Amino acid sequence: MQRNLTAVGCDGTETKMNALNHTSAKTSTVLTSVLFVAMLGMTTLFLSGFAHSQTLHDAAHDVRHSTGFPCH
Ligand SMILES: [Zn+2]
Repeated sequence: MQRNLTAVGCDGTETKMNALNHTSAKTSTVLTSVLFVAMLGMTTLFLSGFAHSQTLHDAAHDVRHSTGFPCH
């Protein structure tokens, strides 16, 4: 059986991988992003829910019912 010596990592001369590992993202940045989006969503939900415009209120009401959010 003939070995393929041109493939990377098969000839035994490469001992170091050059791929970067980005899985160690900063947890505080991720947490800040999640909290910001959650606050933005809650603000949008409650502002539209208590809006004086009947159309905007009805649209928010319909979304609330379709997502199973407790309403009445
Ligand atoms: Zn309702």
